Amino acid sequence: MSHSVDKLRQRTDKFRIEMTSLENEFDVAIIGGGPGALAAALWCGDLGLTSVLIERSGQLGGQLRKIYNPVLNYPGIETSNGSELADLMIAQAERRSGAEIRTGEVSGITEGENGVRIELSGGGRIESRAAIIATGVSRRKSGIPGEVDFVGRGILESGAKAGSEVTGLAVAIIGGGDASIENAAILGRFAKKVFVIHRRGQFSARRELVEAAAALDNVEFVFDATASRIAGDEQLRSLEIKIAGSDEVRQLDIDRLLIRIGVEPNSGPFDNITKTPDGYIVTDVVGRTDLERVFAIGDVVNHTAPTIAGAVGQAATAVKAIYRQLAGDQPANNGPNRSQDQLTRP
Ligand SMILES: Cc1cc2nc3c(=O)[nH]c(=O)nc-3n(C[C@H](O)[C@H](O)[C@H](O)COP(=O)(O)OP(=O)(O)OC[C@H]3O[C@@H](n4cnc5c(N)ncnc54)[C@H](O)[C@@H]3O)c2cc1C
Repeated sequence: MSHSVDKLRQRTDKFRIEMTSLENEFDVAIIGGGPGALAAALWCGDLGLTSVLIERSGQLGGQLRKIYNPVLNYPGIETSNGSELADLMIAQAERRSGAEIRTGEVSGITEGENGVRIELSGGGRIESRAAIIATGVSRRKSGIPGEVDFVGRGILESGAKAGSEVTGLAVAIIGGGDASIENAAILGRFAKKVFVIHRRGQFSARRELVEAAAALDNVEFVFDATASRIAGDEQLRSLEIKIAGSDEVRQLDIDRLLIRIGVEPNSGPFDNITKTPDGYIVTDVVGRTDLERVFAIGDVVNHTAPTIAGAVGQAATAVKAIYRQLAGDQPANNGPNRSQDQLTRP
């Protein structure tokens, strides 16, 4: 079952009707729609905080929508892919959070004395008493000459979606992480040949993914190699690679190319918040940024070990910290799940 933002919005209309005053004012604005954001919405509902969740893509689930293998490492549940887990999280948030779901791209955030103001691309704005940034990461571009020219002419957007499109073709995949190796195993089932090009001597991908790819005879791993040029005519035809520590240059005849060389944090809109040199948002142990009312969770803060469980756990910690912080203030309005008992809970 697929849950679009629009469908969710219809279903959350009943909650919105209960919010009689102060349109655009919420206890917590949650930026993003991945597992971190969905868990934050759930916890807001549990603690009686009203929330709005702002997702730019038109579909909730974040990176879970890109996991095509079984998810077996999230405690308590095993699903056959990431979308299945996303749908379970969305359905639970829908039942319990009372969050208003909006489609929009956040372009900036500022903090005032009593709350935060969130700017949306295209002009809108949302005000809340606190905010959680859960914007995750996006795929990094390679910058290899030809990368832009062959978009739609041989460069694949998604390995899993390509599937039978590569039947009988030669494919190269650049990268050595989970996404690269997972795709090698998927495309290897259809393609005539799959080259995996990696600049280091060993993969950083999980062992079970490497084993699945290595089990296919048509998958060739090329280590210590960097891709230097993508070439072709109307269609992509070849990839030039240079082998480290030698003058060797190889020309691989390929029909399709998938680039999976890691990710970068979606932190561009938050230039007034302290980040690491590579753009990850810096927080304290409960997720608070250097803006008192702005928190950040999940992959956008987690350079070293991004996981679903990590994002979800950080969401719980951040919402509990916000709850405590706001407990000294007057609530923005009466949220759907708010109870006197919850408001006085320490
Ligand atoms: C192929 C693959 C396999 C994986 N396998 C596993 C696994 O087995 N186990 C595991 O634990 N983890 C796995 N992960 C990692 C896991 O999916 C992430 O750690 C998790 O999704 C992070 O959640 P998040 O909420 O922080 O961010 P994301 O899931 O990245 O969600 C961020 C959301 O924010 C939205 N957004 C970004 N910028 C803006 C903006 N300016 N305004 C509004 N919205 C915005 C994005 O559209 C996106 O929907 C895998 C990831 C991939 C790609």
